[in-house]
Amino acid sequence: QAKECGRGTFKFFSPDHNEKMVQRMQLEQALRRAIENQELFLDYQPQIDNATGAITGVEALVRWNHPQLGLLQPGLFISIAEDTGLIIPLGEWVLRTACHQAKAWQRAGHRQLRMAVNISPRQFQQRGLMPMIDTILQETGCDPKTLELELTETTLMDNPDEAAALLKALKRRGISLAIDDFGTGYSSLSHLKHFPIDRLKIDRSFINDLTRSPEDGAIVEAIIAMAHRLHLEAVAEGVEYRDQCTMLHNWGCTTSQGFLFSRPLPAPDLTSLLASGQNNVALPIALA
Ligand code: C2E
Ligand code: MG
Ligand code: MG
Ligand code: MG
Repeated sequence: QAKECGRGTFKFFSPDHNEKMVQRMQLEQALRRAIENQELFLDYQPQIDNATGAITGVEALVRWNHPQLGLLQPGLFISIAEDTGLIIPLGEWVLRTACHQAKAWQRAGHRQLRMAVNISPRQFQQRGLMPMIDTILQETGCDPKTLELELTETTLMDNPDEAAALLKALKRRGISLAIDDFGTGYSSLSHLKHFPIDRLKIDRSFINDLTRSPEDGAIVEAIIAMAHRLHLEAVAEGVEYRDQCTMLHNWGCTTSQGFLFSRPLPAPDLTSLLASGQNNVALPIALA
């Protein structure tokens, strides 16, 4: 904690806090070079059709292979990238890499495979977003219909009118739109109604205790029902147990993503999984 020592003195921070700040600054500097040094890579987590067990899409998730610290998860560096503006070049790298990979999988015959990419608030507010996306789609030949952008409620509600205009422009290109971590941010339902959204991704904090907590169950069931009435698809995140999946399926949730089916995988592993023709990473509910 900071100590107040009277006039003319500095504030001293506890060693713990100090250490955290130093670590953050070091990470920031290293992150500046991480892209050109090719230290970033993407893992891909399958999204599963609850009825058939087929892989219908993947979510691209960024990782950082830090030369000294080893493998770092996005929870450690995305907020730094967001605060420093490094999210702009990082996000561009992610989108380009994901679109290249999507095109490669589509060429290999997985024509309908959806590629979901996370877009941070600052990226979404950046003026150059639309031209950047257009350039990358052209460059990679990725079919916009197979691209999905994941946005959080907070990103969209910050400036709902501007957000709605941008979402419409994205939809005109055929890009699909999902609200990520749904239920944890603040959404105005009256705005939600006007956004051309395709899918709601129910946050995994509601899925966690789904089978034990009637409250979480009520929330999840209500989100799925609302999604249907608004003609949106409901996707569940963080599905780890078969019981959760069964409940979700019975409530009409069409798609699941979570460790029950697969952790996020490096591209080559997903290529094998797709090529195995198995295209089916868990027992379909219908057969379970
Ligand atoms: P998210 O977009 O909600 O991504 C889902 C997160 O949940 C991933 O964590 C994934 O590994 C984790 N997850 C999936 N299934 C399960 C499960 O069954 N159980 C548990 N406990 N966790 C599960 P990850 O990869 O650490 O990413 C964390 C967050 O970092 C993401 O949350 C997203 O907000 C952000 N992020 C990741 N990649 C990017 C990126 O390329 N750009 C931006 N802007 N943000 C990213
Ligand atoms: Mg996401
Ligand atoms: Mg999420
Ligand atoms: Mg999340």
